[in-house]
This record gives sequence, C-alpha cells and structure tokens, in this order.
Amino acid sequence: SERTLVLVKPDGVSKGLIGEVISRIENKGLSLVALELRTVANDIAEEHYAEHKDKPFFGELLEFITSGPVVAAVVEGPRAIEGFRQLAGATDPIKAATGSIRGDYALEVQNNIVHGSDSPESAEREIKLWFPNLS
Ligand code: ATP
Repeated sequence: SERTLVLVKPDGVSKGLIGEVISRIENKGLSLVALELRTVANDIAEEHYAEHKDKPFFGELLEFITSGPVVAAVVEGPRAIEGFRQLAGATDPIKAATGSIRGDYALEVQNNIVHGSDSPESAEREIKLWFPNLS
C-alpha cells in the first residue's frame, strides 16, 4: 500500500467539486488518511511547486494556488499514486480523457481542479510538507 498527496485546488473548491473528487477517490477503492480545508501560505506554495520555479507560469501558479481555500488530503491504497493520477487525467484538461476529473470538469491547464503527487519521491516530500505531524 502507498500514499499520495491530493489537492482540490481553489477552482475545484469554488466550483463545488470537493464531494465529487472525494467520491471518485473512495469509489476507486482508495482511503483517506488525512483531510483538511485550508488556505495555502505563500512559502508552502513555493515549496510545493519548487520544481516549476524557473517556468514562465510560476508566478501565476502561486497566485492561483493561494487565491482561496484548497482541500489537502493524504490518500492511501495499493497503487495510490498512479491510481489517483488516472482519476485526475492529463494535466491539460483538453487532453484529459472524458470520465477523468480534469476531462469532465476543466478547460484550462492552470485551473485543472486537482493535484496528485507524480512519484513516490514527490509523494513523500509533499506529504511531509502538507502534513508534517502525520505518522
Ligand atoms: P499537478 O502537479 O498539479 O498534479 P501535473 O503534475 O499534472 O499537475 P505539472 O506539469 O507538474 O502537472 O504542473 C503543475 C501545475 O502547474 C499544473 O497542474 C497546472 O495547474 C500548472 N501548469 C502546468 N503547466 C502550465 C502552463 N503551461 N501554464 C499554466 N499553468 C500550468
């Protein structure tokens, strides 16, 4: 069993998609081991997206992710990382399959509803960042 860090980003929260995302996670057979609604501080946002710090969209990405509350969750189960990436669909919602969260609910690459860790290393780093007290 493995763990992944999932975010419902501010666009997903403001569109009322928290329940939808959580339902899809649970329907897939994955479990929640931590769940919290919170507004992201700028330093946490910068650390979370550190791999993108040299990208032209980094500033906008930070503004977006700190623009309103997000839901942060630690999701657990067999193949949780790839399992959630499949539920989310491709980064660009236009390329994401219909039936995936991004394919069904988003149009723009930045405002793509959810985040999910992309590897075991990212998952470990992100879970420590978002939930430092989780055992
Ligand atoms: P996430 O890490 O959020 O799950 P991802 O791994 O599918 O997304 P990344 O390439 O790591 O995608 O990009 C991180 C996030 O940065 C994307 O989810 C999106 O919100 C934003 N992003 C990526 N590319 C662009 C872009 N060209 N313009 C604006 N925002 C972008």
